Amino acid sequence: MAMQLIDNVVRSQSELQAIRQDLHAHPELRFEEHRTADLIARTLTQWGIPVHRGLGGTGVVGLIQSGDSKRSIGLRADMDALPIRETNTFPHRSQFDGRMHACGHDGHTAMLLAAARHLAATRSFDGSVVLIFQPAEEGGAGARRMIQDGLFERFGCDAVFALHNWPGLQAGQFAVAPGPMMASTNEFEIRVTGLGGHAALPHLTVDPVLIAVQIVQGLQSIVTRAKKPVDSAVLSVTMLHAGDITNVIPDQATIGGTVRTFDDSVTDLFEQRIRKISESTAQAHGASAAVQFQRTYPATVNHPREAEFAARVADDIVGADQVVRGTEPTMGAEDFAFMLRARPGAYLFIGNGDGSHRHAGHGAGPCTLHNASYDFNDELIPIGATFWVRLAEQFLR
Ligand SMILES: [Zn+2]
Ligand SMILES: [Zn+2]
Repeated sequence: MAMQLIDNVVRSQSELQAIRQDLHAHPELRFEEHRTADLIARTLTQWGIPVHRGLGGTGVVGLIQSGDSKRSIGLRADMDALPIRETNTFPHRSQFDGRMHACGHDGHTAMLLAAARHLAATRSFDGSVVLIFQPAEEGGAGARRMIQDGLFERFGCDAVFALHNWPGLQAGQFAVAPGPMMASTNEFEIRVTGLGGHAALPHLTVDPVLIAVQIVQGLQSIVTRAKKPVDSAVLSVTMLHAGDITNVIPDQATIGGTVRTFDDSVTDLFEQRIRKISESTAQAHGASAAVQFQRTYPATVNHPREAEFAARVADDIVGADQVVRGTEPTMGAEDFAFMLRARPGAYLFIGNGDGSHRHAGHGAGPCTLHNASYDFNDELIPIGATFWVRLAEQFLR
């Protein structure tokens, strides 16, 4: 089956592709998306779309209204780049040393702009389309900031949706699941305080190194013995710091790592057990342990009804055999999770292909997210934009 793309959207591809490549060449880090936000606001204004700025700092909201229905749908694109030095040498490579659009948020912005242009020109829906251009997805929780700044009080949104380009999934394919799509991320730090001294006189010390090693081993028992086997979770200790020299037992040792889950109750269990194992192990040896546990992003969990609705919209565009339902969730994380806690909605993957789309001069690495030789696949612009348009039109029928 040939893809059912909107002709107008296809015709505007070269213009939108130019915008996408311009964004790629001028990447901005979280909460610093000033040029990006200016470009988005200017472009929307040119197309007759009213713009609201300042939510979440650099966030931009465009509002397209039609008819008199009070219903509204939120479509979200993220705008920020990553602190990565790009290895691509093609003409639209990053002009800012040490910054790069390695997660395709330039493409997310371009796809939503392409849709906005068509929706504003045709307005074949009844209600409001809320275009949400969000800052700081990469670790800054820009979605939460926009919500705190009144996104949903001001603009409603009976449902919210987001797309993320997905390398490895073929261009022209979509993937979605009715529940978890991405994991929660939680960071922990455990500071073990013992009593330092001479390495040859351990009986006069409380050795925090030995205790830290026992804690690290004990933590893995949470994964294998404490959580239910059918609940997914990963705990990785990624930092273990102690001591400076071979003949001194240090006073302190520090352990750091991450916990990822798909469910708050599982996160609660991990936090309790990390505290208990750390404090009790330290206490057993006459030391103490101070535990910090920080919840960064909750799990991104789709609402089944909205996930199926979005999947059906994709079916009509690319064919049902190109829409993967029940896709395996990843242990990565995404701050659209905050929006899905506030409103029903769904987060979908749109296939970015395997990298063969890249222009001459791309870096030697694979075309995967957060890789220095990554580039968004511009062929997705009309596919993603058609999806946004049809999703809005059918939601606001
Ligand atoms: Zn990313
Ligand atoms: Zn991303």
